[in-house]
Amino acid sequence: MREISVYIHFPWCQRKCPYCDFATQPGQSDSIPHEAYADQVIKELSWRSDDLRDQKLVSIFLGGGTPSLWAAPSIARVLKSIRSTFRHSADEVEVTVECNPISLRRDWLQEVADAGVNRASIGVQSTRDEDLRFLGRLHDSSRAAEAIQLGSSILDRVSADLMFGMPNQSTASLLDGIDQLIDLGVKHVSAYSLTVEPATRFGTLQRAGKLKLASEDEFATLFLKAREQFARRGFEHYEVSNYATAGETSRHNQHYWRGGTYLGLGAAAVGCLPQGPGQARRYRNVPTPRRYLEAGLHKELIEESNEDLSPQDLIREALMLGLRTQEGVNLDITERRAGVEVIRGRESSWERRVKSGDLVVANQVATVPRHRWLHLDSIVADLF
Ligand code: SF4
Repeated sequence: MREISVYIHFPWCQRKCPYCDFATQPGQSDSIPHEAYADQVIKELSWRSDDLRDQKLVSIFLGGGTPSLWAAPSIARVLKSIRSTFRHSADEVEVTVECNPISLRRDWLQEVADAGVNRASIGVQSTRDEDLRFLGRLHDSSRAAEAIQLGSSILDRVSADLMFGMPNQSTASLLDGIDQLIDLGVKHVSAYSLTVEPATRFGTLQRAGKLKLASEDEFATLFLKAREQFARRGFEHYEVSNYATAGETSRHNQHYWRGGTYLGLGAAAVGCLPQGPGQARRYRNVPTPRRYLEAGLHKELIEESNEDLSPQDLIREALMLGLRTQEGVNLDITERRAGVEVIRGRESSWERRVKSGDLVVANQVATVPRHRWLHLDSIVADLF
């Protein structure tokens, strides 16, 4: 039976962070149309799910934006609707909600946990106030610690986001931050390097020569030191930017990295649904909440764009996502899905990378060894 994950995008944040290019817009809790947004997500679900009801639901992820601003009863309605749409479900469907430390409240978390949320992903970013001020975040380090403690007191599974590469961030402070998160009880950490996107305030500052970030060598050192520290604390590096203790990997993200079917709902959400052997259709919804809310059941107004993925698109996507993981790319599954051999059209680069040790193929699974992950981008680009 085919498995499916559902992603719901909640597009409001209290304030835009200067490095963020996600589809979000400023909104305070009392100005957000909580129920109307839930209504529209449920309408979109009913439209999109006609051919999907026999698939097995494995995970739901509420991302954003800041879903911890969304009223708990609205979230509960959406979750109930998703659960009743699919005829089959995994024994334990992983239901994650992204939370911003500044807006996370005990009564809200208890209410969404009662509605089925069983995992929180908390946007800590740093345990140092200096970094948080630089990142334009509304919380400070003590608020971040309180959020993790609160999350762990209600949910068994708590993940934290951590960034590295900020100015004046020493290796020691990053390692100290990792220790603090683990001591507070997180079992999963997404550790990202700070990247500057052109259409952000940081992008403008960088073009004006007013933003100093870590150099490539410094990023590499932080990445490697972080990995050593996570290993010392019993965390497995299971994807380039993700670490987890045993059994705590993100099932939702793994489904996505394995090339699984995912249904995206909400403004700016992206989804990818199979269309028969060797084909899939990827769509992107309109980016602004206003247009999304006004679309009603006019399907052509909900989607901003879509594209049919060819067998080679499917293979490129499988390589791009799967080679970032310790698990790698299962060649049999990918070939069944795409209808062509993975190696076809890339024989010489494939052979070169295998010879150099950048790519290891064993039992029909291709992986990039962890010690080569710093060079992943060039390895994957070569295989495209
Ligand atoms: S809170 Fe998160 S999603 Fe919202 S603007 Fe900041 S980084 Fe972006």
